[in-house]
Amino acid sequence: MGKLIRCECGFTARGDDENQLIDVLQSHLAADHPTLANAVTREDIQSWIQIE
Ligand SMILES: [Zn+2]
Repeated sequence: MGKLIRCECGFTARGDDENQLIDVLQSHLAADHPTLANAVTREDIQSWIQIE
């Protein structure tokens, strides 16, 4: 069972480690959604994590 975060643009970050997953999504936000990257906190991203 893995963890994932789906971005609104269709990008999906996957991983087993929560911190690694958040890092992947933060990098994606910084690259593709710089405005969003500045607006969301690590806690916000943590609340987006889904279990599959
Ligand atoms: Zn995205």
